[in-house]
Amino acid sequence: MPSRQQKELIIKYGELWLKGRNRSKYINLLKASLQERLSVAGSFNLIDYGDRLAVPIRREGDSDVLKDIISKIFGISTYSIANVSEPNLDSISAVSGEISASALKGIRVRVDAHRSFKGYTFDSSDIVRAVAKSVQEAGAIPDPRKYDAVISISVTKEKAFISIENREGLGGLPLGSSGKAVMLLSGGIDSPVSAWYGIKRGLHPIYLHVHAFGTNREAKKSKIMGILGRLSDYSPHYSAYLIPSHEFDLSTMAAGKYKTVLLKSFMMNAAQIIAQKHGAKAIVTGESLGQVASQTSSNIMAEQYGISMPIFRPLIGFDKEEIISKARAIGTFDLSILKYKDVCSINSREVSTSVPLTVFARMLNRMRMEEIAAKAVQKGELIQE
Ligand code: ATP
Ligand code: MG
Repeated sequence: MPSRQQKELIIKYGELWLKGRNRSKYINLLKASLQERLSVAGSFNLIDYGDRLAVPIRREGDSDVLKDIISKIFGISTYSIANVSEPNLDSISAVSGEISASALKGIRVRVDAHRSFKGYTFDSSDIVRAVAKSVQEAGAIPDPRKYDAVISISVTKEKAFISIENREGLGGLPLGSSGKAVMLLSGGIDSPVSAWYGIKRGLHPIYLHVHAFGTNREAKKSKIMGILGRLSDYSPHYSAYLIPSHEFDLSTMAAGKYKTVLLKSFMMNAAQIIAQKHGAKAIVTGESLGQVASQTSSNIMAEQYGISMPIFRPLIGFDKEEIISKARAIGTFDLSILKYKDVCSINSREVSTSVPLTVFARMLNRMRMEEIAAKAVQKGELIQE
């Protein structure tokens, strides 16, 4: 029998992806994500009520730990800390009164009620009436129109949940529900944000970073690993390829103003090879249309020449300021702005803004781009976390 003090963290998932036949696949992935992080954080139980998930709160401090975990998991639409009561009017009113006395004195409160199990003798409006009365007796001011707080009652077959805060989760889809993708990661600000958006839509990341160091070992000591660490808050398991650029550099000494776009093409080809190896079905990059000379429609068309899988560019419509504020929120910004030895041709001074496709295709053929990319992948290092 639930005591009046019992609390649970209630997790609601997005409704849209629940409609199809894949419902249980999505919920199981979300549960697996949650379970894994809960087991790292301590001994927590995960309860599946069918229409929501819940974690009982046992001690002081648990709610902060749980809120922190929840704020980094995709596939959650809202969450709240709820007091649990028995599913009858007396218990619900008593617990609502206690909450009001301790947190809502003198405050205008709206009472919302919802039953997911309808087999009771009382309905939602009975709950609202009974709770409004006990809220008032406890010193709060029930008012359905002008209010500063909402007390939400949700009644299921087993229990009633009473909460006064409802927070937004990250949204998105559960990790891995969209399969794998190769995510191109530079040392800059944009690509970690684009990877984050890819992960948000359920893509499991296989990162690819092309580095300008003499050895992979040096690349492994660079800030890239730090950026991977920050992204792993959202996707704890990942693969990452660190591959050297010198194979490419050697074959494009005289490429002039086409070099930047050729480098992109090299990265795309390497990404495709890696994707095929791992059964990934897409590539994710951090381009934003028109942000720099290489990010025009013509150049984007050129860089993806010969690539036969979808290339997702989640930041295509973002302004730089928007990307920066998202990078701050995700936690990658401070690492992204640290000085870094970038692949040299990415900052090439002379960049053509409209590479002619036929000329470009010929160049790729002549220099055997696919072979160069394959060689570079072979010389790279695969990290698996
Ligand atoms: P970022 O801030 O992500 O570096 P950017 O604004 O500097 O992007 P570009 O240099 O044109 O733009 O790079 C566009 C995209 O190409 C990056 O967002 C990333 O996805 C990919 N990319 C760039 N450099 C590298 C690299 N060294 N290794 C892997 N991918 C890269
Ligand atoms: Mg960059």
